[in-house]
Amino acid sequence: MRKRIGIAGIAGRMGQVLAEEVLAAGAVLAGGIDRVDAPGQVMFADIAALAAACDVVVDFTHHSTAISHAAAVSAAGCGWVLGTTGLLPADNAAVAEAARVVPVVHAPNFSPGVNLVLALAERMAAALPSETYDAEIVEMHHRQKVDAPSGTALGMGRAVARGRGVELDDVIESGRHGHTGARKPGAIGFAALRGGQVVGEHTLLFAAATEHIELTHRAFDRRAFATGAVRAALWAQGRPAGLYSMMDVLGMR
Ligand code: NAD
Repeated sequence: MRKRIGIAGIAGRMGQVLAEEVLAAGAVLAGGIDRVDAPGQVMFADIAALAAACDVVVDFTHHSTAISHAAAVSAAGCGWVLGTTGLLPADNAAVAEAARVVPVVHAPNFSPGVNLVLALAERMAAALPSETYDAEIVEMHHRQKVDAPSGTALGMGRAVARGRGVELDDVIESGRHGHTGARKPGAIGFAALRGGQVVGEHTLLFAAATEHIELTHRAFDRRAFATGAVRAALWAQGRPAGLYSMMDVLGMR
């Protein structure tokens, strides 16, 4: 039977491309929800109604929806592909709770290329000693983006931290300003640029006294994320409950 996929945030930049990609994948687009109308789309009253009508909800909205959406997908027993970034600790706890009941694919970035970069970042970090190679992550996004650092930048930071056997929260240096003091040994630094209509650019730099190594990903089109998210939705349907990442979907784990 063809999969029924619903889109939370269907009127948004990602939602519009997702709607096209669901149909291109041969799945059924059940409809969506949004705060504003999405012309030509079936609109549901709320997340509970959408989840009840779908096998999987693909969700690219705002972090403030995470707790209520987690409850709704759990109650309906439908899968959840969550791309929203900027989640707070309480939001992440709700996501983990939902993953005890339904399959949840949560990724800061659904593009296959970025997930390859994350895998490489972890391996590079494991090979390059942190006392010699300073890790810095620079990202740029369009002027409408509301959270910083980007979810993908944080994902890169977590990959570096994993490679070094530390917790990102213990070594993060983000948004330096004023008299910050010298760089702490082992820190993972972040800088965020905002402007124009940049879909997403991320560079991971390992800077040593004698050499620099850079790993850069540039997304030119949101479709890179949308095709990955729809692939994740098709993969998630029928899986056991659990918290999965795009690495699982791509078979990179
Ligand atoms: P956007 O602002 O264009 O779209 C978000 C949509 O969600 C809007 O149409 C908005 O009206 C809707 N929305 C917000 N609150 C809602 C609510 N309570 N109920 C229903 N609808 C609601 O933003 P975007 O560029 O499409 O990005 C959306 C999210 O996805 C952001 O968090 C962004 O960082 C993230 N994102 C993730 C990836 C990834 O691969 N994981 C890629 C791109 C964007």
